[in-house]
Amino acid sequence: MTYRAPVADIAFALRHAARFAAARDAGVYDLDDETLSAVLDEAGKFATDVIAPLNRVGDQHGTPFRDGVVTMPPGWKEAYTSWAAAGWNGLASPEAFGGQGLPAAVNAACVEMWNSASMAFGIGPVLTMAAINALAQHGSETLKATYLAKLVSGEWMGTMQLTEPQAGSDVGALRTKAERAPDGTYRITGSKIFITYGEHDLTDNIVHFVLARLPDAPPGTRGISLFLVPKFLLDAGGAPGARNDVRAHSVEHKLGIHGSPTCTMVYGDSGGATGFLVGEENRGMACMFTMMNEARLAVGLQGVAIAETATQQATQYARERRQGRESGAPASASAPIIAHPDVRRMLMTMRGLTRAARAICYATAVAIDRSHRAREETSRAAAHERASLLTPVAKAFSTDIGSEVASLGVQVHGGMGYVEETGAAQHFRDARIAQIYEGTNGIQAIDLVTRKLPLAGGAAVGAYLDELRQSVAAVNAANDPAFGATGARLGETVEHLARATTWLLGKIEHQPDAALAGATPYLRAFALAAGGCMLADEALAALRVAGDADAPGRVAVARFFAENLATAAGGLVAAVTDGAGAIAPAEAFG
Ligand SMILES: Cc1cc2nc3c(=O)[nH]c(=O)nc-3n(C[C@H](O)[C@H](O)[C@H](O)COP(=O)(O)OP(=O)(O)OC[C@H]3O[C@@H](n4cnc5c(N)ncnc54)[C@H](O)[C@@H]3O)c2cc1C
Repeated sequence: MTYRAPVADIAFALRHAARFAAARDAGVYDLDDETLSAVLDEAGKFATDVIAPLNRVGDQHGTPFRDGVVTMPPGWKEAYTSWAAAGWNGLASPEAFGGQGLPAAVNAACVEMWNSASMAFGIGPVLTMAAINALAQHGSETLKATYLAKLVSGEWMGTMQLTEPQAGSDVGALRTKAERAPDGTYRITGSKIFITYGEHDLTDNIVHFVLARLPDAPPGTRGISLFLVPKFLLDAGGAPGARNDVRAHSVEHKLGIHGSPTCTMVYGDSGGATGFLVGEENRGMACMFTMMNEARLAVGLQGVAIAETATQQATQYARERRQGRESGAPASASAPIIAHPDVRRMLMTMRGLTRAARAICYATAVAIDRSHRAREETSRAAAHERASLLTPVAKAFSTDIGSEVASLGVQVHGGMGYVEETGAAQHFRDARIAQIYEGTNGIQAIDLVTRKLPLAGGAAVGAYLDELRQSVAAVNAANDPAFGATGARLGETVEHLARATTWLLGKIEHQPDAALAGATPYLRAFALAAGGCMLADEALAALRVAGDADAPGRVAVARFFAENLATAAGGLVAAVTDGAGAIAPAEAFG
């Protein structure tokens, strides 16, 4: 079975769980409902009809590498070209450079659909979009005039190059060199590893965004600069001309996303690649953070995307596969496995986790939009803090559940999930990388605890906790028996989170190791509280919409999440506040 874009669910989550509709009422957006629906419908059709059928082909064919050239899987170039020609690459890019200037939140919904259809296809454009943002915000007028329109149209793709063998999570350890040339450009020498779409035949130029160090740079992240390094230098007419001194040396053989070429890149075989400085010397990390924040949300969306696909496939299989019988049925009557409570438990878990992660990612995108588009400066500043707070949660929780849901998808298929024919195994393999790239999930948790909780002296997270309490109060006020114990369980979850937050804020400065040890369980508890409350908001909104046939289903998912999944927060928070002492010292591992 291939993916079908769940456009109605996506639109509802965007409008109500992520509060796009409320932001529009507050004047943040001027996009009417018809246009929003039309964009999502068209994206859904493209993802379902054009990209999804190529997912299996990409997995099986991979990206063979010969004589420095990567050949993309059959059909991918045609699909990419028509995707870009339809304007999808520049959906949220500046209109001045040929983009459509639509909200980041609308693009987020589309990014989910491209990646559900094929994660290996979707990751390439994600990096181009991040590169566009970095260049638009930090590039000189000349660089923007030269490169932005081609990146926005998708005629050229972008890459993001941080990683080196000794510099993974610790970006400050990178050694790639940049030397000033007399003409104001720079000569780049060194190598990078694990570069996504570092080489391919989808476009006739590739624009690399490369972190490197000047000879007189201070050590660590304060001495890193960002350079734009095109694969082909441009001729006088702006067309790709002479080959730059950068090449792919090899392509990795990986667990999943086989259709995405992951390259080792070599700079300076012949004296150094020509690079153009983006932003200021030694201020490259600030520019890269513009790229990384965008890409972190997009990778979170990959987690949602793969979870959605896995859930669709498992649900269909559970309806078709007959095995065992329902309790009380005659011995001869076999039942579809969806009749078994344990299978339905798995399917509800998959659905609940997927929808909660979707809501968190979309809410992050709405916060990003508010930070640029809100009328008042104070609102823009508060939204910036909210986006900063939610980004690591969106990235880590969504990609963790991406793997968990894909694993449950294999489980629902039984033995058929473990063999490759059904496709469930591919989702499981593809999902795993998203927990690692764009900053591992451990690094996201550390970011949340050490940088985001202290924002505004703890006021940013405090304001968020208050909003979650309002959601709990709204469920309680509805007093609807269909919600069961949703209000009570979510209330406990939010208060567990509040307790852990206070505890961590008290430790970060003087006992950082205690705080760091609890960062991962804290992030999970945060997501359970946030996701649970957003699903409750969504269910309440569905009940308010007259004649919404999906309302009972949304209430059921919110209730299941609150009563069966969010309840884990108590144990997680105990691990945060009391568990650090039980982590053995390094010597104890022999
Ligand atoms: C398929 C693929 C595509 C990629 N695409 C790109 C790309 O396009 N561009 C790019 O620049 N990079 C890319 N990467 C690299 C990726 O971002 C890194 O692999 C990732 O950041 C982790 O770095 P590392 O592999 O060196 O792991 P390490 O940094 O060695 O980490 C190993 C483990 O130690 C933990 N750890 C490390 N430091 C700390 C710490 N301070 N505190 C607590 N725990 C810590 C990590 O969480 C992890 O669990 C890609 C990687 C892969 C596999």
